[in-house]
Amino acid sequence: MAVDVETVLRGPQAYDTARKSLELMERHQVWPTPLNFEIWNHFVADPEGPLARELSRLIAIGEPLTDSLSEELASVFLPKTRLNDQIRDAGDQLSKELVSVSRAIQAAQRSNEAYGQTLQGAHKDLNPDADREVVRKMIEGLAMATKRVQRENRSLEKRLSESSQEVTRLREHLEQVRRDATTDGLTNLANRKAFDEELERACAESDQNGTTICLAVLDIDHFKSFNDTWGHQTGDQVIRYVASVIGRIGALPRFAARYGGEEFAMIFPGESVAQVEERLEEIREEVSSRMLKRRSTNEDLGTVTISAGMALRRPNEAGTYCMERADAALYASKRTGRNRVTNGEAISNAA
Ligand code: GH3
Ligand code: MG
Ligand code: MG
Repeated sequence: MAVDVETVLRGPQAYDTARKSLELMERHQVWPTPLNFEIWNHFVADPEGPLARELSRLIAIGEPLTDSLSEELASVFLPKTRLNDQIRDAGDQLSKELVSVSRAIQAAQRSNEAYGQTLQGAHKDLNPDADREVVRKMIEGLAMATKRVQRENRSLEKRLSESSQEVTRLREHLEQVRRDATTDGLTNLANRKAFDEELERACAESDQNGTTICLAVLDIDHFKSFNDTWGHQTGDQVIRYVASVIGRIGALPRFAARYGGEEFAMIFPGESVAQVEERLEEIREEVSSRMLKRRSTNEDLGTVTISAGMALRRPNEAGTYCMERADAALYASKRTGRNRVTNGEAISNAA
């Protein structure tokens, strides 16, 4: 049976749950960051739930519990509610803002109407025989009505300008939320969700224009042993470095993403297989030629290498099918010695 985590976190066991989460984080040597706290609270509150099962599985296979793993878990199991909350809050504020602006506009309309009636009345009462005193009173009345309407129009103007600032702020906030949801926290590259969306878009576009796209998958070689030797913090820095090379060569109109742990994916719209192969070679060479140093201690870490695989998308082919062929090409690179680029078209032609 599904457990309502929110109820557990706000029920009689809430403090026990929180204490257990802390104990577990300490036992597994996880920093008590807000994100980890959220993850481990879910773990304790719903021990049979999907997040707890995945986390138990990762612990069982000895997967190190890094910050980027937490990000990944959160992006799969948590964020939908967090994200939706934020979008809903911004949406609520936006509609409150709109209600109050429309009230202000209605009030201004009413007072402008009343002003019009005052003017009309004055026009009727104003005739050549009117008494001086009557005319003086009428003018005084008109002057007052004019001042009132001016005052109200000024306050409406101020209200509208405040409101347009607030709408701009909310729009920027929503834009930020959207960016966060599509960006990988460690590398600042697009995340897998953004990649999947972009792949679909690029496929649709290339079908429409009758152009081709190439897809590539890149993976750091023997990264598990790098981590085992140098630790995960240093491993994370290497992922960032590799991402920076991939991001530079994968800049617009190309598209580059962190697809998973130490794996990246790229889209090359409208480029030939030979051109793409050359760009991937460039990435491979640049990564393998850089002597890495540990920032904190200046120790030499040696070099890391990457393997890559690529495939050409045929017209009307599903993007995912092309990714599978790029993946198969990546594994061919791994099988045949790593630190190389395999063109999937060459394998499938040979087969
Ligand atoms: P191969 O050459 O076949 O790709 O070997 P590999 O060791 O790179 O591949 P494997 O899939 O066995 O291991 C991937 C490793 O990448 C395991 C995991 O510790 C590490 N890893 C995955 N994500 C992260 C991360 O975010 N940070 C760090 N530091 N390491 C990560
Ligand atoms: Mg690897
Ligand atoms: Mg891998």
